[in-house]
Amino acid sequence: MKILVFSDIHSNATAFEAVLDAAGSVDAYWCLGDIVGYGPDPNECIRLVRDLPNLMCVRGNHDAATLGEVDQQTFNHEASLAITWTKRHLHAEGLEYLLSLPEKLEQDGITIVHGSPHNPVWDYVMDYLTAVRMYQYFDTEICLLGHTHVPAIWYEKEAPKAPVMEFQKVKITEKCILNPGSVGQPRDHDPRAAFALFDPQEKTWELRRVAYEVESVQDRIKKSGLPWRHAMRLAEGW
Ligand code: ZN
Repeated sequence: MKILVFSDIHSNATAFEAVLDAAGSVDAYWCLGDIVGYGPDPNECIRLVRDLPNLMCVRGNHDAATLGEVDQQTFNHEASLAITWTKRHLHAEGLEYLLSLPEKLEQDGITIVHGSPHNPVWDYVMDYLTAVRMYQYFDTEICLLGHTHVPAIWYEKEAPKAPVMEFQKVKITEKCILNPGSVGQPRDHDPRAAFALFDPQEKTWELRRVAYEVESVQDRIKKSGLPWRHAMRLAEGW
């Protein structure tokens, strides 16, 4: 059983296509939210996600903001500009799809959210102390989440010894929180798109990265009138 777990595409279709290619044939697709926001390809990204077979998908904070369900003032200025842009450019079928997404899913003893099991759309699990506080909010052995754009493994009983490495296949032996990083806007100073291959039967988790043509996304950002900062950061992964 091989599941492609991915998060935070953020309207970057070039990065997402590279991830789908690099993952190859898989049995299922699990998306941890934020399909839109920041980037120039909201409609294409929603189409690509929606048409995947055996898909499970939750909504993220940018998805919710695009639906008008959270106050845009809570976003920084440039993120908010991108949400306004996305609202203007998203087709009705894209909006409808975002609206259909739940905030939280549970499948085969695994909790799936965007931000945290406590506040699925908003919380950030950035550090070990925050992760430890989150264990009371889910009963399953594993919780998958994104939102920070940084790949991570947080075990309940031990502090992490080292950052998660690419191609490091980790055997899950205790309660943990897993973050596959971000497809379309990595923030760990590695500009390559991040994703994970997960086997819930073997209980293995493998972080992967794939390079994509950042320049073509930057070109589209420029042409679209979206904030240039969103293009700059893609080249360096911040
Ligand atoms: Zn995000």
